[in-house]
Amino acid sequence: MAADLPVDDSGDGARAAREAWRATITPTIAPADCTHPEHSVFCGMAAMLDSGKWMAEIEIRCARCGEAFRFVGLPAGLSFEQPSTSIDGLQLLAPVEPEGERRLMAGARYVLPQIPPRH
Ligand SMILES: [Zn+2]
Repeated sequence: MAADLPVDDSGDGARAAREAWRATITPTIAPADCTHPEHSVFCGMAAMLDSGKWMAEIEIRCARCGEAFRFVGLPAGLSFEQPSTSIDGLQLLAPVEPEGERRLMAGARYVLPQIPPRH
C-alpha cells in the first residue's frame, strides 16, 4: 500500500489542492479490472477561525485505477461534534483539535424557568 499525505489549509486552497491531488492519479487500468492494491490519500484541513474548530477532510482513491473509496458507517452531513461524510460518502469529515489546546465543554444547555399562568 502506498500513501500520499498532502495537507493543505482551508478555503479555496484546500479545494485547489484536492483537485491537484486528483490530477496526480493517472489510471493505468479500468476499475472493473483492478483489485485496488495501492492507495493515495488526500488530507485537507478546514478551520472555523471564529469558533476555533478544525475539520480534517480526507479522501482515498485507488492509485492504479483512480476509483474513489466510500466511507462506510457514518452519517452524511457536517458536524463539529462527530465524524461524518460528504453526501456521496467519498470524503471523511472529521473534527480535530490540537493536542495541547485547552478543552472546553462540547455543548451547553440553558433552561429557562417556567412562567406561572396569569390570573
Ligand atoms: Zn483500483
